Amino acid sequence: MRLHATQVRAAERPEQRDIRLENMRLHATQVHALENTEQRDTHLESMRSHASQVRAAETPAERVARTQNMRVYSSQSRRADRANIETFQKTINTFCDRICMICTKSCYPNQVTNYKVDIIKTAYLPQELACKTTLLLCHRCNKHVTSNNNTPPSKAYWNNLDPGIIPEVINQLTQPEERLLSRIIPFTKVVKFDGTFGQYGFRGQAVLFAQDISEGTEKFQYASSIYR
Ligand SMILES: [Zn+2]
Repeated sequence: MRLHATQVRAAERPEQRDIRLENMRLHATQVHALENTEQRDTHLESMRSHASQVRAAETPAERVARTQNMRVYSSQSRRADRANIETFQKTINTFCDRICMICTKSCYPNQVTNYKVDIIKTAYLPQELACKTTLLLCHRCNKHVTSNNNTPPSKAYWNNLDPGIIPEVINQLTQPEERLLSRIIPFTKVVKFDGTFGQYGFRGQAVLFAQDISEGTEKFQYASSIYR
């Protein structure tokens, strides 16, 4: 049987060998998953004694070859670990510190592009941007300025959409308080983008409903006088 197995292995192609080894690994994993603690201990003990017998029987040349292989393997795995750590460090040290020069949105390096200013197409640009040769733009603004549109992007900072610095008293409000004081209640479709860590975004149109603030505060006065 052993002789037959040796002949079969000598005749097999590399892909056949990979399939055989993969099947053996799968089988071993299944067997190991089913065994209990004693069976596992016995199994490990027999593996250890087999390894020590093999080592005791090996010639000096075989020993040198084995230790050399082990050294190569450990240095390769150390190098791979180092590369993984470097990749991880590089990834977590990427910040969202690029500011779009039109909408002032903070972006990651892969979310911005350099746009070569075309004065004729983008006549709506304010003087401070029009005098530059290139602009760092987010993809949305870049798409707008490269289109045939002759109005500025809706989120452009000179469109006066930025409310400015929010006063501390407003910043400290809780969400229900904010909602009661808002003069406008927006309704919009919120979607979650793909992936486990997908961010939330808005899609489609937003409908804004005006809210009568004084009506709310009057009702609250009435409610608090009932429960007093
Ligand atoms: Zn932008």
